[in-house]
Amino acid sequence: MRFVVAIDGTSASGKSTTARNVAQRLGWFFLDTGAMYRAVAYEVLRRGVDPNDFERVAEVAKEIDIDVKPGPDGQITYVNGEDVSAYLRTPEVDKAVTPVSQNPEVRKKLVAIQRMVGKNRELVCEGRDMTTVVFPDAELKIYMDADINVRAERRKKDLEKKGIHMPLEEIKKDLMRRDLADSNRDISPLKKADDAILLDTTNLTIEDEVNFVLERIKKRLKK
Ligand code: C5P
Repeated sequence: MRFVVAIDGTSASGKSTTARNVAQRLGWFFLDTGAMYRAVAYEVLRRGVDPNDFERVAEVAKEIDIDVKPGPDGQITYVNGEDVSAYLRTPEVDKAVTPVSQNPEVRKKLVAIQRMVGKNRELVCEGRDMTTVVFPDAELKIYMDADINVRAERRKKDLEKKGIHMPLEEIKKDLMRRDLADSNRDISPLKKADDAILLDTTNLTIEDEVNFVLERIKKRLKK
């Protein structure tokens, strides 16, 4: 059976945690596409390439292999066979991923991989263009958002677990910067698809979010 649950939304709105938990409960494949863009950005930085240098970033994207596999704590992301998952959620990658994800060659490459991964299977994927570009025919589409202060608090907790301490105001500014850039770029901008269900997670727990999506899947399967 094919069933694609496509989730888009703003940064730190809970997409990844929700998608991962839903996939785990159902035994479906979980695809974190943000990690794929982050992996390219990480490799660009590692090679000393300027993330704003369109041509060189495009070359890096063409040269490297990006792969994803399910792991015990979610997705494992590989660059040329090396597990880089632990290096993707740093403030440096947060900054570099914005111009890297605006690069048409990067998007072309990653969208093709994402569609291959999603072919003929049950999948829960999340990102910025899952509902609009990668899987416009998804069986279920969700758009997640939450109050900026709540999102910043969540991101702060995530970073602290990794030993990264940043002032709340700085985190808030970075989230707003990324949302603005993601929503206003020319290719595949972040926007709510007309047929996506809006899920505001401001006052929800992860459990609430997971149950919301599971209920919608059940309803859809009954049809
Ligand atoms: O979801 P996450 O915060 O890990 O995504 C990092 C960045 O990757 C986003 O800010 C966005 O610029 C880019 N991205 C994208 N398209 C996707 C997923 C992520 O452009 N499908």
